[in-house]
Amino acid sequence: MIVVLKAKASKAQIEAVVREIRKLGYKPHPILGVERTVIAAIGDERAHHSLETLISMSGVDQVMPVQRRYKLVSRETNPKGTHLNILGHIFGGKKFQIIAGPCSVENESQIMETARAVKKAGATFLRGGAFKPRTSPYEFQGLKHEGLKLLEKAKAATGLGIVTEVLSESDVDLVAEYADILQIGARNAQNFALLVAAAKTGKPILLKRGMSMKIEEWLLSAEYILSNGNPNVILCERGIRTFETLMRNTLDLGAVALAKAETHLPVIVDPSQGAGRADLVSAMCKASAAVNADGLIIEVHPNPKEAMSDGAQQVTLHQFSELMGDMKPFLKAAKRL
Ligand code: PEP
Ligand code: MN
Repeated sequence: MIVVLKAKASKAQIEAVVREIRKLGYKPHPILGVERTVIAAIGDERAHHSLETLISMSGVDQVMPVQRRYKLVSRETNPKGTHLNILGHIFGGKKFQIIAGPCSVENESQIMETARAVKKAGATFLRGGAFKPRTSPYEFQGLKHEGLKLLEKAKAATGLGIVTEVLSESDVDLVAEYADILQIGARNAQNFALLVAAAKTGKPILLKRGMSMKIEEWLLSAEYILSNGNPNVILCERGIRTFETLMRNTLDLGAVALAKAETHLPVIVDPSQGAGRADLVSAMCKASAAVNADGLIIEVHPNPKEAMSDGAQQVTLHQFSELMGDMKPFLKAAKRL
């Protein structure tokens, strides 16, 4: 930590800070400047008291960390980047991975028809919520275990891997039985007990960014998973809340480029929650390729008008197959084909 003292800090105040740093278990190294004094406090914060409390001492202006707060996810740990092999498909490798399917699993014909169509168009994983996080308790909450069984049928019929959300700690074991990738949704991205429980299954985890989460907080949530023994994390940008109202969220593609540079984890984009509008999905898919994303998770429904959740943002089977074709030149330009 770097402790910056106020310009007018007295000698007694500086000495008091030095004493306090030593008392907390760190080695103080004062640097006496012309205007003000800076003290470098050397020591591992994980093993000692936090130095943040020094800010309450008179004479102290700022207390700043030298190191990043995340370590295991940081690119320095694995400069070449993680290649995550899930059912033979590599996330974080050259190939752009496509996860597609409905927002919610609604019934057998809906999930089977969608699974067959997205597979034919080139998707490698099927998404579909069986446990749905809905803003209102009066909205469709998902088919739960029944939905998981339908996903299992769709997997058996198509060979597509399954991506589905786990909403609570009590469902982790059940959902992990069916999912090839456990999705942790935006609303749960800082549910640390759930992150730890999901990590302990050892299953790959798709970690959405919370809608009001800073990038650092998102990466620290991933750090929870890695530090609990599970290195199989895919980050997913899905839009954040801003002052904008014409779109459901503001898709933060800068965060994708940054997460790719800052961490070694694969990063994918959810353009469906990102825009909340089916007509914008194709453009955001293309843009995702340009910012170095490793893939997409796209909501696709045979009849979006009748969808039980997120109807406005789901593309039809036909639109999905068209957008897969439209993306090709962009993927080629990004050397992802
Ligand atoms: C979803 O994928 O349907 C979903 C609820 O996503 P998010 O958690 O990003 O809102
Ligand atoms: Mn949705």
